[in-house]
Amino acid sequence: MPQLDDSSRLDLGPLAARARRSLNGGHPGETGVALPPFVDHHVHLMLVSPDALAGGNLAGVVDLGAPLDVVTAARGREGLPRTDFAGAFLTTPGGYPVGRTWAVEGCAREVPPIDGDGRGALPSPAEAAVAEQHAFGASVVKVALNASAGPVFDAATLGAIVAAAHERRMPVVAHVEGEGMTRLAVEAGVDALAHTPFTERVDDELIARAVALGQRWISTLFVAGYGERTPEAERAVDNLRRFHAAGGRVLYGTDLGNGDQPLGVNARELELLAEAGLAASEVLEALTDPWPRDEPAEGVVTFAADPAPATLAHLPAWLAAAVVVPAEELETL
Ligand SMILES: [Zn+2]
Repeated sequence: MPQLDDSSRLDLGPLAARARRSLNGGHPGETGVALPPFVDHHVHLMLVSPDALAGGNLAGVVDLGAPLDVVTAARGREGLPRTDFAGAFLTTPGGYPVGRTWAVEGCAREVPPIDGDGRGALPSPAEAAVAEQHAFGASVVKVALNASAGPVFDAATLGAIVAAAHERRMPVVAHVEGEGMTRLAVEAGVDALAHTPFTERVDDELIARAVALGQRWISTLFVAGYGERTPEAERAVDNLRRFHAAGGRVLYGTDLGNGDQPLGVNARELELLAEAGLAASEVLEALTDPWPRDEPAEGVVTFAADPAPATLAHLPAWLAAAVVVPAEELETL
């Protein structure tokens, strides 16, 4: 039997295990690598249906903005991908994405500013808006902070939303766009950014604060330029490179539903993660982090067939061709 030469293979880190598919079924005895389930941490099921994703290689998705009737329908659905929801975008009156052509009726929930110190009427509009998303099954809260497209929350109202979400153990994820919005999100204690900041260079001091806060950045590097080296795309890669180098936690996400992208893992997004300095094992961490949950989807694993990649350049296409299989179908080697 030929010896496998591990030195010629890319180091995939501790999440990867050599595996063989069972001798029954469509691919009997095929060897490759078992990986935890893949998650796209930024999708919109109001723009791409969960049924369209069911045959792909995403075992989990996080919906970051949809009308509550879309959430209700998707929650009633069985099978993969496992879905977590933010519910509607919370935004200030007249703020993004109100009025955008893609912004389906009901996907934005306008939250008026709090009066004075916010302690007065109970519940405050911020608390009511968070409670409403939670009641419809949201497990994260999405806030829009887009100063390029209209008004944004003041710090006190944003702080009240973050406090109300944290009382329910829900992380807050922010869309930041426009000057100063990353700082507003960091100062409010926002848990995650829905996009790597692409409209402003985030300085190293602010990156250090985001890292100290434990903030996660959802990558979405591909949609910053759709493959073009636009200033936004270059800025996003530079921001993510420095955030990652400073110890920041990166989550794979594509804003799936926004523009033309594959209905599964986007190899172009993975290429850009590698360009931002993530090693193979770190790309896999970003792609398989069960956030906002603690545990990955049960009963399934990802199988990527041999030949395993020899270099980082071969990793994206190989992962994009991986499949979701029942865990019992694989035997660890
Ligand atoms: Zn989005």
